[in-house]
Formats: sequence, C-alpha cells, structure tokens
Amino acid sequence: MNIFELDDLYVAHTYSRFPLSIKKGHGSVVLDENGKEYIDLGSGIAVNSFGICDEEWIKAVSAQLTMVQHTSNLYYSEPCIKLAEALCIRTGMKMVFFSNSGAEANECAIKAARKYAEDKKGADCFTIITLNNSFHGRTLTTLAATGQEAFHKDFLPLTPGFVHCEPEPEALLKTIFEHKVAAIMFEVVRGEGGVVPMSREFADTIAEVAKNEDILLIADEVQTGNGRCGKLYGYMKYGLTPDIVTTAKGLGGGLPLGVTMLGEKVENVFSPGMNGSTFGGNPVCCAGALSILGRINDDFLAEVEKKSEFVFKMLEGAEGVENVTGLGLMIGIKTKKPAKQVAQECMEKGVLVLTAKDKVRLLPALNIPYELLEKGVNVIKNVCLAE
Ligand SMILES: *Cc1c(COP(=O)(O)O)cnc(C)c1O
Repeated sequence: MNIFELDDLYVAHTYSRFPLSIKKGHGSVVLDENGKEYIDLGSGIAVNSFGICDEEWIKAVSAQLTMVQHTSNLYYSEPCIKLAEALCIRTGMKMVFFSNSGAEANECAIKAARKYAEDKKGADCFTIITLNNSFHGRTLTTLAATGQEAFHKDFLPLTPGFVHCEPEPEALLKTIFEHKVAAIMFEVVRGEGGVVPMSREFADTIAEVAKNEDILLIADEVQTGNGRCGKLYGYMKYGLTPDIVTTAKGLGGGLPLGVTMLGEKVENVFSPGMNGSTFGGNPVCCAGALSILGRINDDFLAEVEKKSEFVFKMLEGAEGVENVTGLGLMIGIKTKKPAKQVAQECMEKGVLVLTAKDKVRLLPALNIPYELLEKGVNVIKNVCLAE
C-alpha cells in the first residue's frame, strides 16, 4: 500500500489533505517523496516561522536535546523560565502559563477570565463574548468560543457561557447590555474566518468598554502573533492593551508550544493546583522558541512589513483577483475561481498555499526570500487568470 492508502486505512478521517506527502525541506522549499520541489507559502499553518530546518533553531533545539528532553513541572527548568521572562519584557504582560497548543492556551485564558470575574463581580458574571466567524480551537470549550455554528452542530452540548457577536460597535454594546460579561475574546485578524482584520473603530470600542465596565480583553494571537502581522503581536498594531494574550503556532518554530500571558489584572488569579500541563513548557520546545523570539526584533519586523507590501502590490488589481486582505504576512486573496481550486492548481505548479473560507490564504515563513515570494505569487497570479 502507498502512503495515501495507509493514511486512509489507519489515520482518523478528520482532515481533507492535499495529495502530497512531504518528505523534507529547507527554508521555504518543501520536497515530496519523489524529490519534487515546492515553494512553501503556508509554513505548516503559520508554524515554521523561520522556515524548515532553520539552522539557528536546530542548534538551539539540539543543544537542549543533549541535556534533558523533559523535566515535568515539579522542578524548575531554565528554558521555559527564560522564555517567560522574554515574553513579559517584550509585551509588558506579567506572568506566563505554558501549554502545548492554541486550544489549550485559550482554555487557560478562559479559566483565568472566569476566575477573575467570579472573584471581582460574582459567580453569575461569566459570559465571554467572541466574534462571529472567529476560531479559537477544537476542544469542547474552545469550540463553544468559536463563533461558527458549522463547527458546533455535531458535538452538542458545548460548554455554556459564550455568546457571539458581529465585530461592530453597536452589536457589541447590545450584547454587553444583555449579559453579565466577564471578557471579550478576539483575533485582530480572523484567520480561519477568512483573513479579515478588525476595524480600528471596533478595536477602539472594545478598549473603551473594557475600561469602563471592567471587562477583560483576551487577544487570541495563536495565528496573528509572533511577528506574523508585522508587529510582535497583532494587538500592538491597534494600540490595544489586552489583559490576556494567548499564542502558539509560530512561537515554537515547529515544535508544539502554547502560552497564555496574564496581564496585571489577572496575574494572581491562579494558585497551585488550579491549572497544569504535563508537557507544558517543554525545555526543547522553549529553547527553540527562545531562538525564534530573539530574532523577531524591530529590523526583522520592518522587513516583514516590506514583504507584505510587496505581495499586496503584486496581487492587488491582478486579473482574477477580487481583493486582498490581511496584515503583515497573513494574507487572504479573494479569487474569481474557487479558492480550493486555486490551491490545487498552485500545488500542481509547485506552490503550496492554504485556504480560509472562500479565500486563498498565505502564511509564508517570515524570513522567506523575496525571490521565492515573487516566484510563488506569480504562480498564484497565473493560476488566477487562467480559465
Ligand atoms: C490555530 C488556532 C487555534 C487552535 O490552535 P491549536 O494549536 O490547533 O489548538 C486557536 N486560535 C486561533 C486564532 C488559531 O488560528
């Protein structure tokens, strides 16, 4: 049996995969089983921040691997403590909880918000507002947070306590009036929801109501974070100061790592026993993350912005392209052709792109060379204009 048949037989059918088996790669180039090369404009799903097998990252990860691969959280371990320090210094957040995925990072954020609201405003104040077309994860609680009914329907009942609203000031104010609200949880660019950035006006509204009503702001930066949007975290583009920030995907540079950063209001909500994770803060993952985070500095971020402008310029107004949305190197392309078909044809022509709803979605490695970016985007343009 070949790889595709074995997968069909033995791996749970939760994914609809591209017919491509990735063997290895380097930087933003991926090789399949037959040695055919592809330009990678997805970096996993915004995970391989510095591309495949980045040398500095490998050095950091392998150095840690030769010392100890796991310690449990019963003992102190330097890489995760150093990473927590670096994250707090870079963001102004106060404390970090480590887990292994975006969904887990969000679970911790939700627990922190509920605890804060219960202590401060009473046990009946627990509602968390999230946005229509948001995505926050696959566990039953983060699915409940996810504002897309299509994901809910087969798994009811979900965790109660979530309401969804349009990212518009009036809709938000109405929702706040109708519920006892503990927190507003949001992506500054809804990724899975179609790469849709939040409006300035809505960002200003959430900042204002959060301040006036003592409602916590939870920024889900799982996809938008770690340099993806041209700032270290996407909320920084909007001048927001969230109380809780979650991230995962790109932080580990390819190894699983989730973090929940707690700001001043919530830094002390947890005491021993209230949350935990066996693998959370794994030293190998954290050593890799330190290498990634350390290189996402101002010069590097300016370069991400330049590459973003480069892609927008190439695509805007191109034949077969209706519009281009996103921030930094998180880019959505509304094409005349169905997005899935574009992705399929791009793959056949040696370029890997993702989709989100009806958009083609690009999440290239942040350090992708211009030459590959240009080649890749030209292939997309050609696919878009051909019948
Ligand atoms: C991917 C994603 C998640 C879920 O992350 P997992 O690591 O798959 O659990 C949550 N929120 C956002 C915004 C995401 O893009």
